[in-house]
Amino acid sequence: MPETLLQVDKLNKVYESATGRVEAIGDISFAMKRGELVCIVGPSGCGKTTLLKCIAGLLRPSAGEVQLDGRKVTAPPENMALVFQEYGRSLYPWLTVRGNVELPLKHKKLSKTERAQLIDDALLAVGLEHAAKSYPWQLSGGMQQRVAIARAVAYQPEVLIMDEPFAAVDAQTRADLEDLVRTLHAERGMSILFVTHDIDESVYLGQRVIVLSKSPTWVQEDLLIDLSPQRDQITTRALPRFAELRTHVYEQIQRAKRGEAVRPRA
Ligand code: ADP
Repeated sequence: MPETLLQVDKLNKVYESATGRVEAIGDISFAMKRGELVCIVGPSGCGKTTLLKCIAGLLRPSAGEVQLDGRKVTAPPENMALVFQEYGRSLYPWLTVRGNVELPLKHKKLSKTERAQLIDDALLAVGLEHAAKSYPWQLSGGMQQRVAIARAVAYQPEVLIMDEPFAAVDAQTRADLEDLVRTLHAERGMSILFVTHDIDESVYLGQRVIVLSKSPTWVQEDLLIDLSPQRDQITTRALPRFAELRTHVYEQIQRAKRGEAVRPRA
């Protein structure tokens, strides 16, 4: 199996419309290894959504390409799962929690028993085994997002893409969900690409943090997060190294906003 799971190579995206031409992404290149947890941060409007849509095969790049597992992405790849901020819109209200988690598995060739096992295991992984028969609207926002995560876990994707998934939940729930993401990565070896505008979240979660410039976007910094893999909300966030890293990323984002950072020549 190749070490590199996801490769974004000289990606450029220009939106052309009747009202003009917007170069959203200038030139983005980065690679992600199998089993990595990589965070992407950048100022708002910096092209995060455009980048993710290109990675997810929902938008065709103007130049450059995305490869998943050595294959060029030209349509939504089967071995990718996505979790978005709007959990309310990604769950089906007429299906139970179990039904929601089961839905994408119907496209896989699995026996009934295998399917049931994957669902049980995923619900257990996110701590929702007791809520299998509930409907999404009976659950809190944080629990609904757990259902969306369980659906992705049961599907067993090669890579899980999370787009600002916790932006709409309260701080305590957010902390719990962040720890859930770290556990899924540590215990199941899931490869996760996590997009957030929250600097502390990116440093707490990531093995690497990729800082994007403002649009037309390029990779301003690809930072190794040299904190221990054993992290917890209280001790890790109180470490001097955590403070140094968050300050560093914060300064990079400020530079990005002011357009100060100079793009290196290819
Ligand atoms: P982010 O997700 O980081 O907020 P986006 O990817 O949504 O950034 O947007 C990046 C840039 O591309 C912005 O300047 C935005 O106005 C522009 N943009 C996004 N979508 C379109 C579109 N469909 N047509 C024209 N411009 C767009």
